[in-house]
Amino acid sequence: MNFGDTPEEATFRQELRKWLAANVPEGPAPLGGPARAQFWAKWHRALFRGGWMGLSWPVEYGGRGLSPIYEAILADEVGAAGAPPVPHVGYLGRALLHYGTPEQRRRHLPGLLSGEETWCQGFSEPGAGSDLAALSTRAERAEDGGYRVHGQKVWTSDAAWADWCLLLARTDPQAPRHRGISALVVDMRAPGVTVRPIRQINGDEEFNEVFFDGTPVPADRLVGEPGQGWEIAMTTVSYERGPADIGFSSRYARTLRRLEEVARQRQVPPATRRELARAYVHTEVLRLHVLRSLSARMAGGTPGPQSSVDKLLSTRTEQLLHHAAMDLHGSGPLLGDDGEVLFDYLYSRGSSIAGGTSQIQHSIVAERLLGLPRAR
Ligand SMILES: Cc1cc2nc3c(=O)[nH]c(=O)nc-3n(C[C@H](O)[C@H](O)[C@H](O)COP(=O)(O)OP(=O)(O)OC[C@H]3O[C@@H](n4cnc5c(N)ncnc54)[C@H](O)[C@@H]3O)c2cc1C
Repeated sequence: MNFGDTPEEATFRQELRKWLAANVPEGPAPLGGPARAQFWAKWHRALFRGGWMGLSWPVEYGGRGLSPIYEAILADEVGAAGAPPVPHVGYLGRALLHYGTPEQRRRHLPGLLSGEETWCQGFSEPGAGSDLAALSTRAERAEDGGYRVHGQKVWTSDAAWADWCLLLARTDPQAPRHRGISALVVDMRAPGVTVRPIRQINGDEEFNEVFFDGTPVPADRLVGEPGQGWEIAMTTVSYERGPADIGFSSRYARTLRRLEEVARQRQVPPATRRELARAYVHTEVLRLHVLRSLSARMAGGTPGPQSSVDKLLSTRTEQLLHHAAMDLHGSGPLLGDDGEVLFDYLYSRGSSIAGGTSQIQHSIVAERLLGLPRAR
């Protein structure tokens, strides 16, 4: 792969840099509550107004119809500028783009891209995380032809301010468990929806418990066919990473450069120096790997089990980096100084859980990429 920009890409990058220099919001996002929601909504809308959202999305749904390379350049530059990440709406939108009716796409995709409407992903439950097919939230047929949803979701990021939820629910309890699940678009303000934020150890309130008590869902909010929910869920999670990985890699490289500056100013024990060197090597491996993934996508490939490798490399790099940062900063973060260092370290611990745990990714790599026998 040629790592250099074409003349068009270079022009795009320059314009983007200019825009970022003038538009990156001050300071980190506020923790929890409406202030956090407002911060992200403002950033999302600013990116959309600037023309930077939905770069590779069809024009008819509010995108720009460009090649995915432009999404990668966007993630790269946003990460390198230390700006808040580009709101990660694409993977939920992909479910609608692949499986939604034309009406569902027209209704939902423009608002999703522009940030006028926010979405959450209602997959995990108290009894169904890694084993997602064990989910027990049910959507029963109602007399009006629609559904009534009963059950509970958990760890639902951004549910407290979401307008819509892409929900997985069991519609056929008699069917084999993977086949009895359907995907529904649920209005988060419909009757019977209760959202309870979960306060995290880092002080944030990103995720929530969500309860459904007879929540009505009209029939035309079913995505795909009844029983197609598992396939839709798998497509969605395979898009959870992607061009954004380039952004992780440039964000980590930026963090590493900041750590190098700190390390030059103080006496650093050999063990921490080695940690920093390892973080450097892994950041570089990640960068090259995501470029390889990007080049496969550019050749027409769609994300599949290989995105588990991206996730494992990215998680490992993030955790190494923030562990090294904690060691480098000594007791400061724990005593209340360097709050961002502590926040990032704590957040990095959850990265090996979000979007499927590392153990599950390892099993996918073993079974689906290497063809090894299933673990007992
Ligand atoms: C930051 C963050 C954001 C999230 N956002 C969302 C969201 O928006 N929407 C949503 O639906 N969910 C979300 N989640 C939830 C996430 O998808 C689940 O936490 C994850 O799938 C793991 O499920 P679990 O927590 O139930 O753990 P469990 O599945 O109970 O796993 C517990 C432990 O057992 C291990 N384990 C389980 N099964 C196996 C196996 N077969 N082989 C080997 N090891 C195994 C796991 O690796 C883990 O270490 C989020 C999580 C995080 C951390």
